[in-house]
Amino acid sequence: MHRSLISAAVLALAGVSAAPLMAAPAAAPVAAAKATTQLPRSVSPTHYEVSITPDAKASRFAAKVTITLNVLEATDSITLNAADLKFASAVLTPASGKGAPASATVSVNADEQTATFRFPQQLAKGSYKLALDYTGVIGQQAVGLFSLDYDTPNGKKRALYTQFESSDARRMIPSWDEPNYKATFALEVTVPGSEMAVSNMPVAKKTDLGDGRALVKFAQTPKMSTYLLFFALGDFDRATATTEGTEVGVVTTRGGAAKAAFALESAKAVLHEYNDYFGVRYPLPKLDNVAAPGRSQFFGAMENWGAIFTFEYVLLLDPAYSTQADKQAVFLVAAHEMAHQWFGDLVTMQWWDDLWLNEGFASWMESRLTVRLHPEWNTALNAVNVRDAAMARDSVATTHPVVQHVTTVEQASQAFDDITYQKGESVIRMLERYVGEDAWRNGVRAYMKSHAYGNTVSDDLWAKIEKSAGKPITAIAHDFTLQPGVPMIRVGETTCKNGATVLTLTQDEFSRDQPNKKPLSWRVPVIAQIAGNGKQARALVAGGKATISVPGCGAVVVNAGQSGYFRTLYAPKEFAALASNFTRLAPIDQMGVLSDSWALGMAGLQPASDFLDLAKSAPLATDPQVWGKIAGVFETIHGHFEANPARQKQFGAFAAARLAPVMAQVGWTARAGEPETTANLRAQLIHTLSGLDDAATIGEARRRYAARNSDPAAVPGALRKTIMAVVAQHADGATWDELHAAAIAEKTPLVKDQLYSLLASTEDKALAQRAMELALTDEPGATNSAAMLAEVATRHPDMAFDFAISHMAKVNERVDSTSRSRYFPRLAANSADPAMIGKLNAYAGANLAAGSRRDADTAIAGITYRIKVRAERLPAIDAWLAKNAN
Ligand SMILES: [Zn+2]
Repeated sequence: MHRSLISAAVLALAGVSAAPLMAAPAAAPVAAAKATTQLPRSVSPTHYEVSITPDAKASRFAAKVTITLNVLEATDSITLNAADLKFASAVLTPASGKGAPASATVSVNADEQTATFRFPQQLAKGSYKLALDYTGVIGQQAVGLFSLDYDTPNGKKRALYTQFESSDARRMIPSWDEPNYKATFALEVTVPGSEMAVSNMPVAKKTDLGDGRALVKFAQTPKMSTYLLFFALGDFDRATATTEGTEVGVVTTRGGAAKAAFALESAKAVLHEYNDYFGVRYPLPKLDNVAAPGRSQFFGAMENWGAIFTFEYVLLLDPAYSTQADKQAVFLVAAHEMAHQWFGDLVTMQWWDDLWLNEGFASWMESRLTVRLHPEWNTALNAVNVRDAAMARDSVATTHPVVQHVTTVEQASQAFDDITYQKGESVIRMLERYVGEDAWRNGVRAYMKSHAYGNTVSDDLWAKIEKSAGKPITAIAHDFTLQPGVPMIRVGETTCKNGATVLTLTQDEFSRDQPNKKPLSWRVPVIAQIAGNGKQARALVAGGKATISVPGCGAVVVNAGQSGYFRTLYAPKEFAALASNFTRLAPIDQMGVLSDSWALGMAGLQPASDFLDLAKSAPLATDPQVWGKIAGVFETIHGHFEANPARQKQFGAFAAARLAPVMAQVGWTARAGEPETTANLRAQLIHTLSGLDDAATIGEARRRYAARNSDPAAVPGALRKTIMAVVAQHADGATWDELHAAAIAEKTPLVKDQLYSLLASTEDKALAQRAMELALTDEPGATNSAAMLAEVATRHPDMAFDFAISHMAKVNERVDSTSRSRYFPRLAANSADPAMIGKLNAYAGANLAAGSRRDADTAIAGITYRIKVRAERLPAIDAWLAKNAN
């Protein structure tokens, strides 16, 4: 699954963590020896024959399923997962066909999401078929079988899709809905004959039923987990290409296939790479990517085997409104979901404890492949932003280990967080660098081969890598995955002797909210280098200390290449040497040094002004992404001054003046043949300068917006979103009304969704209030409401949280049921008001189970830290400004 990217695109551009901080109560670092189950182990399914007749208009479906199963211990009952299903009959027959059928009485447990079938007699061990007749509901949010309504030039249409990860297959099929109960599936659907039905496998047979309906039978799937099953139905187009024996396809709503051309072309290139990398060919006959209008608060795309589901905003591209960042997101998301076709779909974690095996790996693979296939985007530098997002979450007391024990459906849902994704990705990057690319890939190939169609735990992967690398890695991997937190490497004073620099490294822990914490212990692989010298030295810091001799003399960079998951704190003299050699560092090390000095400065471990010194002296020719990092931090500092408009204005003026020459160099108009990284920097600088209330930028965006109808060059497609965002952020009432009228009139779902988000992005509180009221009406459409409130919350968190709490029932109807416990705390996550801590505690106490407080507790930790930073660090920034501004 790829997490929701709705506001992430903007935030990632701004160089800040995409997701608000998220948290868990400290879970015990348990590697599950035996897979957890919430179902009795006495029965196990092998095959499902499913027949579904959806009634899209009435939002319900009728269905039958025949499950072939093995009774492993004599029992008089069978329990499986079911949610919101009504059973009409349940009959069990011996699979041999010999023996009398037995009818069961059904009891449903809504809290446990189970159905139990009781039989008059004990069932002996053996193989049976359980036939169930039932009905279910079609929802409006992306959970289970759901509908999405969208506008077309010919009026509104409705399409159906499914979303089952982590625990929602049970809303369409009564099933053993846990990842380790793998089985085969044969799906047939009775649907309007004019519509297209899509599932994991190709259509095997379509029969016209003569009444306008058709019976569509899909080929049987390989053995797989329930959460990977998929079905979609609608007025669709499908475009295909064949590569290496596999048919790759894109499915869109009618008329949209041309906008999916880049996704289709990317799928071909990615499939070729993965067939090679994994050493096992893609095993299904086809691989579709199904684009759907709308959005979810929870995810952007889902890796259903053979039928990836992706929201349009990360699949379709249109030169009239898509940005360079959109294009990169389409590739990244497709590369992520396609990596899951192997890592997740072919080989699946036993239980949600090891979810990171799926997500950390797919995230690492998406980054790796983007660097490889699109070097012109220079995305290698993103590794630092990924690491920062993980560390923001991992350096407060509410963090949790990468491998964590999950006991409830709610906890499984909450496991899709920055630790699972970004820390997982960062740890893999470090370990791959440690053992080397070839050893890592060979280990992965051996793992795929041994566990195809099966389930694994993390140690199964470490065993294969260790064998392939021929050196110990499991102990290091355990340090970083079974215990929480961020190591900090202290670099002592260096000496230079005989052409080599000798330095002492000491391992500490980077904690933002427990300054006196006794550090945990890690074995940390470290790479060091002298600025401007190509030769690297490696060491494994174990037992808390290491001495390392680095070839050459001069300023030393620790964590050269930035693949290590740790913060680096230099002795003052060593930092000063590095700062004066900043331009000699590789761009990725410039990113790393900026990132560490900022994080350590805010935590009080290094002067808060060190980052500003670097930002002040960065030359114009600095890499666009390094400028992006600086711009992102400027926005954060500007936000910290919100309680004091005079100081905020002073800082805003300094930051805008610092960025103005960069903006002047980049310009508002794209030059033919400019690097693609320049297009991203342009969008980001305009975004940042708008956030800094820079009058020139706001004025230029307004001028272009006003001229949009008379001058086609005023708002080029690639800059449309960026310009509109500035106009909306600083909108007055008349502009807001104009945007609102445009939203109502718009027929393209992607553009319409964006317009509704813009209405919620205003600095003006009265207009933000109007946006929230509008969000709770039927006008924006079922999947825009929650996104609008979340958009308001980025600028006015207290207002958005209070509003959502006072309209909780209405808000709950508009949020996926799986993400409610995360949605409300996230609205408050950007607050700096001490009163919010009490409000969040009250919300959690009244609405969340004890084991589901993770996001609430993390939001509280974030707010507490923000209050502390503002009180303790801003005076140093003020003092620096007094000396350095102007
Ligand atoms: Zn994923």
